[in-house]
Amino acid sequence: MPIDPTLPYDESNIFARILRGELPCSRVYEDDHVLAFNDINPLSPTHVLVIPKGAYVSWDDFSARAPDPEIAAFVRAVGLIAREAGLVDPGYRLLANVGAHGGQEVPHLHIHLFAGAPLGPMLSR
Ligand code: AMP
Repeated sequence: MPIDPTLPYDESNIFARILRGELPCSRVYEDDHVLAFNDINPLSPTHVLVIPKGAYVSWDDFSARAPDPEIAAFVRAVGLIAREAGLVDPGYRLLANVGAHGGQEVPHLHIHLFAGAPLGPMLSR
């Protein structure tokens, strides 16, 4: 069920619980501002979720409210994770779903990193 991105941050969302250590994750990267872990239901051979540690509902919320150092750390971490996994060549795809039309289900900003095979068209026609 897509979320309503205008609602305030929900501290009980599943990624907030992972950040608090209440739920496990298959971690691939962590620093002061960022956590990345494997998606529990992968849609490609590599499917990593990269999240900021701060409480941001979506890309919209993050881009509007996050301090510049958190934004820089997040953007750089996404690039680093892909680079260190050897994904620059052959390539990868980034995706952030926002709100109902985006199909966002978890109300904590996450970037999907897809890789490991040709990913086909960006959207079905
Ligand atoms: P979105 O539709 O963009 O909100 O994507 C949410 C993603 O979170 C989906 O790809 C789910 O498979 C993934 N997901 C949900 N719960 C977990 C979890 N506990 N650990 C890892 N990934 C999860």
